[in-house]
Amino acid sequence: MVCYVCAQSGERSEAVAICIICGMALCKEHLVREELPVWEKLHDGLVERRQELPARLPRFLCGDCHRALHQPGA
Ligand SMILES: [Zn+2]
Ligand SMILES: [Zn+2]
Repeated sequence: MVCYVCAQSGERSEAVAICIICGMALCKEHLVREELPVWEKLHDGLVERRQELPARLPRFLCGDCHRALHQPGA
């Protein structure tokens, strides 16, 4: 598969990832890799606490979806 962003500007780059939101194929120049923290709920008597686990959940996004998710006020 060819990177969609590169293809729009007439270039051809081998895609190495797919955006999980829009499904766009992305080369390594255009992908955005995010790591989301994973939380575990702990019940501590009546109180519920959250603890961040050591391993994070990686995901690939394109630039547009990354901007949309991280826009101010979102
Ligand atoms: Zn590209
Ligand atoms: Zn996307």
